Amino acid sequence: MDFPIIDLIDEEQATAWLLKHFHPEGLHCPHCGANVEEARLFGWTRKSHLRIYRCLSCEGVYNLYSGTVFEQKQLTPPEAVLLLLRGVCQGVPSAKLAREIGLSRQTVMSLGRVLQSNAEALQPSSALPDKGAETDEMFQNAGEKGDRH
Ligand SMILES: [Zn+2]
Repeated sequence: MDFPIIDLIDEEQATAWLLKHFHPEGLHCPHCGANVEEARLFGWTRKSHLRIYRCLSCEGVYNLYSGTVFEQKQLTPPEAVLLLLRGVCQGVPSAKLAREIGLSRQTVMSLGRVLQSNAEALQPSSALPDKGAETDEMFQNAGEKGDRH
Protein backbone atom coordinates (compact mmCIF):
# COMPACT_ATOMS: atom_id res chain seq x y z
CA MET A 1 0.00 0.00 0.00
CA ASP A 2 1.38 3.41 -0.94
CA PHE A 3 0.64 6.35 1.29
CA PRO A 4 2.53 9.50 2.22
CA ILE A 5 4.80 8.54 5.12
CA ILE A 6 6.61 11.86 5.03
CA ASP A 7 4.43 13.22 7.86
CA LEU A 8 5.59 10.43 10.16
CA ILE A 9 9.13 11.76 10.21
CA ASP A 10 9.93 14.49 12.68
CA GLU A 11 11.82 17.38 11.12
CA GLU A 12 14.12 17.82 14.11
CA GLN A 13 14.99 14.13 14.24
CA ALA A 14 15.60 14.08 10.51
CA THR A 15 17.92 17.07 10.82
CA ALA A 16 19.85 15.35 13.60
CA TRP A 17 20.11 12.16 11.53
CA LEU A 18 21.41 14.03 8.49
CA LEU A 19 23.86 15.98 10.61
CA LYS A 20 25.24 12.72 12.03
CA HIS A 21 25.31 11.09 8.61
CA PHE A 22 26.90 13.89 6.60
CA HIS A 23 28.88 15.64 9.32
CA PRO A 24 29.92 13.02 11.88
CA GLU A 25 32.39 15.45 13.42
CA GLY A 26 29.87 18.28 13.62
CA LEU A 27 28.90 20.98 11.16
CA HIS A 28 31.77 23.13 9.95
CA CYS A 29 32.10 26.04 7.58
CA PRO A 30 32.84 24.47 4.15
CA HIS A 31 34.85 27.55 3.19
CA CYS A 32 37.35 27.84 6.05
CA GLY A 33 36.59 24.86 8.32
CA ALA A 34 35.52 26.93 11.34
CA ASN A 35 33.12 25.26 13.75
CA VAL A 36 29.40 26.04 13.44
CA GLU A 37 29.59 27.59 16.91
CA GLU A 38 31.71 30.32 15.32
CA ALA A 39 28.87 31.21 12.97
CA ARG A 40 25.70 33.18 13.53
CA LEU A 41 22.21 32.31 12.40
CA PHE A 42 21.71 34.16 9.13
CA GLY A 43 18.19 33.02 8.30
CA TRP A 44 16.27 30.01 7.07
CA THR A 45 16.13 28.41 3.63
CA ARG A 46 12.62 28.93 2.28
CA LYS A 47 11.73 25.49 0.98
CA SER A 48 13.86 23.09 2.97
CA HIS A 49 13.53 24.94 6.32
CA LEU A 50 17.24 24.73 7.08
CA ARG A 51 19.16 27.10 9.29
CA ILE A 52 21.48 29.29 7.23
CA TYR A 53 24.76 30.02 8.97
CA ARG A 54 27.08 32.92 8.37
CA CYS A 55 30.66 32.15 9.32
CA LEU A 56 32.21 34.80 11.57
CA SER A 57 35.76 34.09 10.43
CA CYS A 58 35.31 34.12 6.64
CA GLU A 59 31.79 35.57 6.14
CA GLY A 60 30.89 32.42 4.20
CA VAL A 61 27.26 31.28 4.18
CA TYR A 62 26.32 27.63 4.49
CA ASN A 63 23.71 25.16 5.72
CA LEU A 64 23.34 21.49 6.60
CA TYR A 65 23.33 20.44 2.92
CA SER A 66 26.42 22.40 1.86
CA GLY A 67 28.90 20.06 0.22
CA THR A 68 26.43 17.13 0.15
CA VAL A 69 24.37 15.64 -2.69
CA PHE A 70 21.36 17.58 -1.39
CA GLU A 71 22.93 20.97 -1.97
CA GLN A 72 20.52 23.20 -3.95
CA LYS A 73 17.86 20.43 -3.99
CA GLN A 74 15.40 22.24 -1.72
CA LEU A 75 14.34 19.09 0.09
CA THR A 76 13.22 19.21 3.70
CA PRO A 77 15.23 17.02 6.09
CA PRO A 78 12.46 14.37 6.30
CA GLU A 79 12.39 14.18 2.48
CA ALA A 80 16.15 13.79 2.33
CA VAL A 81 16.13 11.07 5.02
CA LEU A 82 13.36 9.16 3.25
CA LEU A 83 15.21 9.34 -0.06
CA LEU A 84 18.34 7.97 1.55
CA LEU A 85 16.74 5.25 3.65
CA ARG A 86 14.02 4.06 1.30
CA GLY A 87 15.61 4.76 -2.06
CA VAL A 88 19.24 3.86 -1.54
CA CYS A 89 19.22 1.48 1.41
CA GLN A 90 15.96 -0.37 0.66
CA GLY A 91 15.87 0.06 -3.13
CA VAL A 92 12.26 1.31 -3.27
CA PRO A 93 11.27 2.15 -6.90
CA SER A 94 11.28 5.85 -7.72
CA ALA A 95 7.56 6.01 -8.61
CA LYS A 96 6.55 4.54 -5.26
CA LEU A 97 9.05 6.70 -3.45
CA ALA A 98 7.75 9.84 -5.17
CA ARG A 99 4.24 9.06 -3.92
CA GLU A 100 5.47 8.34 -0.40
CA ILE A 101 7.44 11.57 -0.15
CA GLY A 102 5.10 13.73 -2.21
CA LEU A 103 7.77 14.77 -4.73
CA SER A 104 7.69 14.62 -8.49
CA ARG A 105 9.00 11.37 -9.95
CA GLN A 106 11.57 13.36 -11.94
CA THR A 107 13.04 14.87 -8.78
CA VAL A 108 13.25 11.44 -7.17
CA MET A 109 14.82 9.89 -10.26
CA SER A 110 17.43 12.58 -10.78
CA LEU A 111 18.35 12.49 -7.10
CA GLY A 112 18.28 8.71 -7.17
CA ARG A 113 20.98 8.65 -9.82
CA VAL A 114 23.19 10.96 -7.78
CA LEU A 115 22.56 8.94 -4.64
CA GLN A 116 23.20 5.60 -6.35
CA SER A 117 26.54 6.82 -7.59
CA ASN A 118 27.31 7.81 -4.00
CA ALA A 119 25.84 4.61 -2.57
CA GLU A 120 29.16 2.83 -2.54
CA ALA A 121 30.60 5.55 -0.36
CA LEU A 122 27.56 5.45 1.90
CA GLN A 123 27.48 1.66 2.24
CA PRO A 124 30.80 0.17 1.23
CA SER A 125 29.96 -3.25 2.69
CA SER A 126 26.81 -3.98 0.66
CA ALA A 127 27.99 -2.93 -2.79
CA LEU A 128 31.28 -4.81 -2.99
CA PRO A 129 30.49 -8.54 -2.37
CA ASP A 130 28.15 -8.81 -5.40
CA LYS A 131 30.73 -7.36 -7.72
CA GLY A 132 33.35 -9.71 -6.31
CA ALA A 133 31.12 -12.74 -6.87
CA GLU A 134 30.47 -11.79 -10.47
CA THR A 135 34.15 -11.36 -11.13
CA ASP A 136 34.93 -14.76 -9.57
CA GLU A 137 32.29 -16.48 -11.73
CA MET A 138 33.68 -14.83 -14.82
CA PHE A 139 37.17 -16.07 -14.05
CA GLN A 140 35.91 -19.56 -13.21
CA ASN A 141 34.05 -19.87 -16.51
CA ALA A 142 37.01 -18.60 -18.40
CA GLY A 143 39.23 -21.12 -16.63
CA GLU A 144 36.88 -24.08 -17.32
CA LYS A 145 36.70 -23.26 -20.99
CA GLY A 146 40.47 -23.00 -21.11
CA ASP A 147 40.92 -26.43 -19.44
CA ARG A 148 38.68 -28.23 -21.89
CA HIS A 149 40.73 -27.15 -24.87
ZN1 LIG B 1 34.24 30.16 7.30
